[in-house]
Amino acid sequence: MSAIDILVSEVGPRDGLQNIKAIMSTEAKKAWIRAEAEAGVAEIEVGSFVPPKLLPQLADTAEVAEYACGIPGLTVAALVPNLKGAENAIKAGVHKITLPLSVSETHSLANLNKTHAQVYEEVQKITALLNTLPPDQRPGFEGGLSTAFGCTFEGEVAEKNVVKMAVKLMELGCDEVCLSDTAGYANPAQLRRLIRLVRAEVGDDSLAAVHLHNTRGLGLANTVVALEEGITTIDASLGGLGGCPFAPGASGNIVTEDLVFMLDAMGLKTGIDLDKLLKVRDIVIAALPGEIMHGFTPAFFKPSHPQ
Ligand code: ZN
Repeated sequence: MSAIDILVSEVGPRDGLQNIKAIMSTEAKKAWIRAEAEAGVAEIEVGSFVPPKLLPQLADTAEVAEYACGIPGLTVAALVPNLKGAENAIKAGVHKITLPLSVSETHSLANLNKTHAQVYEEVQKITALLNTLPPDQRPGFEGGLSTAFGCTFEGEVAEKNVVKMAVKLMELGCDEVCLSDTAGYANPAQLRRLIRLVRAEVGDDSLAAVHLHNTRGLGLANTVVALEEGITTIDASLGGLGGCPFAPGASGNIVTEDLVFMLDAMGLKTGIDLDKLLKVRDIVIAALPGEIMHGFTPAFFKPSHPQ
């Protein structure tokens, strides 16, 4: 595979689907993931290992993850809320796990029903488990700093807390941290400042990814700043599906298609074929009738609404 400049990490099958009422069939999820991998997307977050009662939309995560792990060259990522989730993710064979830690404790309680101290305990247990695995079976372990830019419940989030918690996650054994704009509050100046503050403490290599939402339309503006700061992994969701069920008003990750168009136009290699990627929308549209698919790029590449 030719070298890429920026890794576009598709999170739609997890972040997108968890925030909508409709439940996508397992077969459609598999078709979506395969088609996107064939379009050149090298990393896909395929689900979340949470109890099916909490997120029925993602109840088939184990099956979907096992299927995705059979797709050559694809890095399969999954969210895990605790040790149990990590055990199941490892059993399914995923290559990367992300544990979300909300900087806002109110959000942490709503999202995981856990205080910060309790989440740290889970991180420790997961690290201990990972350390028992042979290196070739050990998934990467990312700590996702949710609500790093603001919280629907608590409002402003103190930057010093984000930095402190990033340091703590690294001390407890995470391989890297990610800054997540869970509720879409980030602005470019804030993002630049926070990337620099966190990297000054954990090192550049330990913060290589950002997870941005487009709730207020600043997703791509924020992305450009992340690129300027040397971030190399950008999360996005096909058709901008996504959000957070516990952050009322939050809707939509940045749109994968628009992100790939922008990166291409900037001369940055993603390894993704935009035409093929745009065709993947048809799978999602067919599987989720009535669901809004966002994005500007499709209108130019394929006039699917000729009227
Ligand atoms: Zn998100």
